[in-house]
Amino acid sequence: MLTWKDIINFSVNGNLKPDKRIEKSEAEWQSQLTPEQYRITRLKGTERPHSGDMCTSHEAGIYSCICCGTLLFDSTIKFSSGTGWPSFTQPIKDNAVKYEKDTTLGMVRVEIMCNTCDSHLGHVFPDGPEPSGLRYCVNSESLQLEKK
Ligand SMILES: [Zn+2]
Repeated sequence: MLTWKDIINFSVNGNLKPDKRIEKSEAEWQSQLTPEQYRITRLKGTERPHSGDMCTSHEAGIYSCICCGTLLFDSTIKFSSGTGWPSFTQPIKDNAVKYEKDTTLGMVRVEIMCNTCDSHLGHVFPDGPEPSGLRYCVNSESLQLEKK
């Protein structure tokens, strides 16, 4: 199980190797995604809180990357954070998510990205529930739910 110490270590010393890499041109991503998905995943945008219906949904399934389909989060580790964005305590695999230090907006945060295609997902914070203590705060637009 990943903890905040692991996350800081990844963001400072480098990430785990993904199972595979998918790289496409900006034009290819743009033609594949809706304008809102493109803005969030490729231009590191943020959706308005409570704008995605995934936030309140508790349907069983696996959440995958909207850009490349890599499996990222399981619905069993989703929790209600009250923030208005889908929130998880762990990725589905240790190497599914990539971490980078983000100092925009005058804050120091850890950005989370799909480790396969570098799609922007959101941020991770050390104020989640036990046992991991992590809160992966993800844009709904970055995810698709594959129902079980
Ligand atoms: Zn991806």
